[in-house]
Amino acid sequence: MGKLGLYIHIPFCKKKCLYCDFPSYSCMEKYMLDYVKALCLEIENKCKGKRFNTIFIGGGTPSYLSMEAWEILKETLHKVNKHEDCEFTVECNPGSFDKDKLEVIKTAGANRISIGLQACQNELLASLGRIHNFSEFLKGFEMARNIGFKNINVDLMFAIPGQSFEQWKETLEKVSNLNPEHISCYSLIVEEGTPFYKMKEEGKLALPEEDVEVKMYNFTVEFLRDNGYKQYEISNFSKEHKECKHNLIYWSMDEYIGCGASAHSYFNNIRNKNESNVKRYIEKILSYEDTSVEKHENSTKDNMEEFMFLGLRKTNGIRISDFKSKFNVNIYDIYGAVVNKYEKLGLIKIESDKVFLTEKAVHISNTIMSDFILE
Ligand code: SF4
Repeated sequence: MGKLGLYIHIPFCKKKCLYCDFPSYSCMEKYMLDYVKALCLEIENKCKGKRFNTIFIGGGTPSYLSMEAWEILKETLHKVNKHEDCEFTVECNPGSFDKDKLEVIKTAGANRISIGLQACQNELLASLGRIHNFSEFLKGFEMARNIGFKNINVDLMFAIPGQSFEQWKETLEKVSNLNPEHISCYSLIVEEGTPFYKMKEEGKLALPEEDVEVKMYNFTVEFLRDNGYKQYEISNFSKEHKECKHNLIYWSMDEYIGCGASAHSYFNNIRNKNESNVKRYIEKILSYEDTSVEKHENSTKDNMEEFMFLGLRKTNGIRISDFKSKFNVNIYDIYGAVVNKYEKLGLIKIESDKVFLTEKAVHISNTIMSDFILE
């Protein structure tokens, strides 16, 4: 029986970071309370009769919600039916929470927080447009521990413009010394429509060379492994048994319900995206209109492709027996040629029931994944 996750989107940020293309907005605080009230209606409606293995409140900056908004959301979150071992994560950004805010997040049921740090050098944080400095992060981390959060993720970013290899190493050292249970390390991607994109077009962004980026990534994997963090996905590392269960739902193609503006769901074989305009979202909820703006029923072919793309992100890859039980066909009948091709090139490994990417395949994983698209 598959697992079920609940994703809740909070689209507010104090200030927009220069690289960010997530559905999050600054200067929209006036909608905060109405948004949360509408969101609660959607949660109560969509979660009725379901029991969740994971809850993830992401954004945006959930910790930027006012205390009043959190108190309202808390009431609804208490009504959501959760498994006893439900992993319940809330994303928090330094500079947007204090002790009282963390207390209300904890009493709302959260047992895991994910703190966005990115880098430990204040000049890099400022160049990214982050609202906090490193010491605010340290204070927030300590506060979370003191309040009793025993499961903390820290989000980091490498290949930041102007970032040296030494600075990245220093960030990894300082963060791993704090002993969080989980560390995510994503390389900066310059996305269209962001201020960074414009700066890149104008030649004003000093991005690290590709070989430096590869060196940073390889160092990350080795350094974190030596410091007790197991890599379980291309960009994610955890202490034993502290993998993010919610993200594993996505990568294993289990089902999830998304609530809030821009939230995605995958349920009953249907991929669905919610209205992303915050004002329209509130209006639609209040007038009982359908909030979804994109609906797609996955074909078997879609499901097979996604099972491979998403599954191969995990270091454990996919299970041959899972493919068979999900699709009632042997994986080699569908993907025999492509699996054999990459196995011969040393980019895919097959170990009894497992098919997974080798370490050297990670840097070209996108090219490999595209070969799993079916005609
Ligand atoms: S805090 Fe996160 S969601 Fe908000 S603007 Fe920055 S990167 Fe985007």
